[in-house]
Amino acid sequence: MNVHDSEKMLGILEKEGYTETDNALEADLIIFNTCSIREKASQKFFSELGRIRSLKRKRPGVRIAVAGCIAQHEGRKILGRAPHVDFIFGPQNLHILKDVASGRAPSISLDENPYIATRDLPAKRGDPVRAWVTIMYGCNNFCSYCIVPFTRGRERSRPSRHIYSEVYELAAKGYKEVTLLGQNVNSYLSDVNFAGLLRMLNRVEGIQRIRFVTSHPKDLSVDLIHAMSELDKVCEHIHLPLQSGSSDVLKLMNRGYTYSDYVERVAELRRIIPDISITSDIIAGFPGEIHSDHLLTIEALKNIEFDGIFAFKFSPRPRTKAALMRNEVPEETKAARLSEILALQDVITLRKNRSIEGTLQEILIEGESETDPEKLMGRTRTNKIVTFSKNGTSQGTFARLQIVKGRTHSLEGIAS
Ligand code: SAM
Ligand code: SF4
Repeated sequence: MNVHDSEKMLGILEKEGYTETDNALEADLIIFNTCSIREKASQKFFSELGRIRSLKRKRPGVRIAVAGCIAQHEGRKILGRAPHVDFIFGPQNLHILKDVASGRAPSISLDENPYIATRDLPAKRGDPVRAWVTIMYGCNNFCSYCIVPFTRGRERSRPSRHIYSEVYELAAKGYKEVTLLGQNVNSYLSDVNFAGLLRMLNRVEGIQRIRFVTSHPKDLSVDLIHAMSELDKVCEHIHLPLQSGSSDVLKLMNRGYTYSDYVERVAELRRIIPDISITSDIIAGFPGEIHSDHLLTIEALKNIEFDGIFAFKFSPRPRTKAALMRNEVPEETKAARLSEILALQDVITLRKNRSIEGTLQEILIEGESETDPEKLMGRTRTNKIVTFSKNGTSQGTFARLQIVKGRTHSLEGIAS
């Protein structure tokens, strides 16, 4: 979501005559698009911000803006720590960049923006094949650990016709794949619900793959699973954060489902879409998580067998309920639990990736492999990365590959 916010910022600035540079020394405007989901991201940002101070001394004309969730959360306090900052604006106020460019913007813009869903912003996209499309803003769920509802505000869905037009224009520009973005996409609601939106977008000619992140287990309806199964462009992958295998911890997290509810949904997904890949997020060391809760998470990983996970140590975030909870888990216990979770998942992911050796997979080619310039890389419909030798095929086209090797983080394929 942050990456796409940056694309929107670039889109607005390009219209104002700016061009992009990756050399801070020649920039007229430097924007930090920040993330506050975990404390580490905040710390990194403040040390970067300190480093840029000397640049401002050398070139007083350069303007520095802080955007994103830290901007929203810290607001004016940022000026106390970093008086060299000129503008502070939150994720609901990207549109003010137009005025930043012309020098007319107020220095701090953090208001709730009720019009956010109806105001379409241009985007300068970094990827010529796959595009992000925001379908909704904000979140109403207030999971007890999460800062997002405080920084991105209340949930607001974009009108379906706006989303349809954006996807239609992307298809006209040659994009093959869209990823629909929202904190909780399956609670999307305008004149249609999320399944209805997928049905609309599946009709856009030229778009060949539709993905979405992130889905919330409590809002995963059977109607949506059927829509995913019936619609040819909707890929067989879902990112469905579990967070913990312990129903007690899920309750403390205010997630709105139990472990057995989650398992039922996974069974339904796999019954209706047998080849679906399921990935997830896990938090290790939530306050009050005792050893037996952790073992339930380990059991859950073994039972569910995700295709992959993102796992994080719990990080207390300001204003959230969890930050005030007692029974904090010691840092070294969090780290040990996280390592155990990641090591186990690596074994599971490798086993799953090996199990598709020998199969034929449709790959959308994204470009050169980052690790080997002799190779191209792309993704299966199930969102697994595949690398293969260059063979005359090019970025943005589809290849049919046989998987010859499954590794933990990627697959190796050959043209079939
Ligand atoms: N809306 C999505 C959801 O509900 O899954 C994604 C939210 S968040 C941007 C992505 C992931 O960050 C979450 O699924 C959660 O695992 C993790 N996360 C959020 N707050 C956290 C915290 N305070 N400490 C550790 N991990 C956190
Ligand atoms: Fe945060 Fe929960 Fe909303 Fe996801 S659903 S953004 S974890 S509050």
